[in-house]
Amino acid sequence: MKIFIDFDDVIFNTKKFSSDLFEIFGRHGITREEFRDSYYTFSKKSSSHGRHYDPDAQIRVLKKKNGVDVKSLKSDVNKFLRNLGQYVFSDVEFFLKNFPKKDLFILSYGQAKFQKIKINGTGIDNLVDRVFITKRKKADVILELARKYAFSKKEAIILIDDHSEQLEAAMNTGGKIKAFHLCRKEGRYHALPCLLRDYSVKNLKAVERIIKKEKM
Ligand SMILES: [Mg+2]
Repeated sequence: MKIFIDFDDVIFNTKKFSSDLFEIFGRHGITREEFRDSYYTFSKKSSSHGRHYDPDAQIRVLKKKNGVDVKSLKSDVNKFLRNLGQYVFSDVEFFLKNFPKKDLFILSYGQAKFQKIKINGTGIDNLVDRVFITKRKKADVILELARKYAFSKKEAIILIDDHSEQLEAAMNTGGKIKAFHLCRKEGRYHALPCLLRDYSVKNLKAVERIIKKEKM
């Protein structure tokens, strides 16, 4: 069995992280509006792919505001980003340790640079074989990897995600991928429906129970 697990809102409490990140900017005299306005910075390249967050780019935008001590803000933000273990949901480590490391992959959506900073900051990458970051449909990435590394056809492939679009794409692979909708109450999208999925669960303990029961 191969398990692909999403990062934001599944492994990581992104809502709490974002709010604590704002607090650091707030301590440096930046208002919520200024934080929000500078949150999404557009480069010619990234704007064609949608909006992606980059803390360094944000600090560059804020540099223009009088009175912001950029050096000290940067140092506070970097210190914060180095130790993010507290934002990992409490059931993650226990869940991952149930399976051989070689079968576990983090599959995260977004801008590689910032996702890497967050994932490395948690240290949770040590419990999985590899980390993949993509801006594409995860189902396509998984099927490519299955071909490239010749996953056995008998072996179940699982995707655990909170995003309905990603799960629906997994459901369109003709049963090649088992789609688990992990809807945590702390997640940013927990109120959004996900109609196309194999299983809907509230935590990773429930995923583990289903894997055992269905003998995946
Ligand atoms: Mg997510």
